Amino acid sequence: MIPGEDAYDVTVDVDDDAVEDLLSVRPADVDPAEELSFARNVFVPLTTACRYTCTYCTYFDPPGEASLLSPGEVREIVREGADAGCTEALFTFGDDPDDRYERVHEQLREWGHDSVHSYVREVCEITLAEGLLPHANPGDQTREQMELVADLNASMGVMLETTADVDAHAGPRRKEPGQRLNTIRNAGELGVPFTTGILVGIGETWQDRAESLLAIREMHERYGHVQEVIVQPVVDNERWSGGSPSVEDLRRAVAMARDALPEEVSVQVPPNLAPAREVVDCGIDDLGGVSPVTDDHVNPDYAWPALRELESIAEAAGVPLRERLPVYERYLPADLRSDDFDGEPAGSPPGEADAWVSERIRDAISADDEAGERYRAVIGGGADG
Ligand code: SF4
Repeated sequence: MIPGEDAYDVTVDVDDDAVEDLLSVRPADVDPAEELSFARNVFVPLTTACRYTCTYCTYFDPPGEASLLSPGEVREIVREGADAGCTEALFTFGDDPDDRYERVHEQLREWGHDSVHSYVREVCEITLAEGLLPHANPGDQTREQMELVADLNASMGVMLETTADVDAHAGPRRKEPGQRLNTIRNAGELGVPFTTGILVGIGETWQDRAESLLAIREMHERYGHVQEVIVQPVVDNERWSGGSPSVEDLRRAVAMARDALPEEVSVQVPPNLAPAREVVDCGIDDLGGVSPVTDDHVNPDYAWPALRELESIAEAAGVPLRERLPVYERYLPADLRSDDFDGEPAGSPPGEADAWVSERIRDAISADDEAGERYRAVIGGGADG
């Protein structure tokens, strides 16, 4: 049983035979991708407050020390990103700051907000006005929280990390896989194109990795909303000295992801944290976001490689490098897809949603202005590294 499965009423049936099959997959069993993609983004570390204390994480700050970007600071970052030719504002957060973070909540109240999510709405509006597409990763979210901000995001995300109960998540406030799956389910029910992934090397077993990937597959089979799955190795930092998985283990984990997931779901390895060149033949087809203007605030010790580095990875692999938006093209309506789009359109979203992206996001992409032109140039394949 996955920890938290009952509490969140989110049953995932992972078949034992499927786990066994996946455990036998090796890099030689999967085909390398025919092209690699990336997104041009800016990191917006909206708040470093987090109710959890994962032992491998340097992102969160304790109560009293956590930061909260002001609307003016957000505007400055996203404007700089838009000026530099980015298309995505990647909002990073801790997970729903609890009531120990009095200063953060006081500040939010001063700005007229009773929750982080209500504030996210305001900063997404700022972002769209400045010409970037928001992609928010606010940790675990209830359906109501996600619903409050979904229409202002091109896509959203949360790492599943693992379905296992690992010590790295231990402590008085324990992050539960069931809650993560609940968030992924909420996104599916709301028709939100979604990014998730596994974290490799935090104490999980190979069996756990296989189960985690198959749980993601099951969520995607139910709702069709998982656009990409990140395979991210844990890395040493000031809070984690447990080391990273070996290249050989990472190659196997990436190959398992490629094998477990349907073809339309991208498999991503973040080149600032993983030896992308050494796993590029294991089925990855995306290199994540690259930022010309801000550091990777989640892992500040590991600066994003320059765009040239991504080109060089693609060149070494002998495949083209293509820029993409934070929402994958197959989730866009037909009139916004490029003429040479040859993928499988995502079909209708589940539930009551009439489209995978809201009218606000569709309008932003099709707008007859500088930002709209930038987005459509990316969709049209006109922009590369
Ligand atoms: S990994 Fe995420 S949930 Fe865990 S402490 Fe860091 S910010 Fe919080």
